Amino acid sequence: MNCKKARVLMSAAVDSELALKEEQDFLAHLKQCKECHEEFEDAKKTKMIIKERIVQFKAPQSLVDAIMQLTSLTAIEHEDTLLFE
Ligand SMILES: [Zn+2]
Repeated sequence: MNCKKARVLMSAAVDSELALKEEQDFLAHLKQCKECHEEFEDAKKTKMIIKERIVQFKAPQSLVDAIMQLTSLTAIEHEDTLLFE
């Protein structure tokens, strides 16, 4: 797996939504690639912070959905940028 593919899979990996084979390839790449590893750690932290804030303020489900949609949209934009490089 190369960095481009790893970045595309990143957001799904954070949500544990990868197929087993994809996840294995992804994790294998992280072991070899410091940059992607750091990116993945950051992505996980960001997700945790969002989750903690939602719990802390007991946000209504509609707001939770809106935030989740926003974060996934951002991820898609990010992926597009990388793919067209
Ligand atoms: Zn990489």
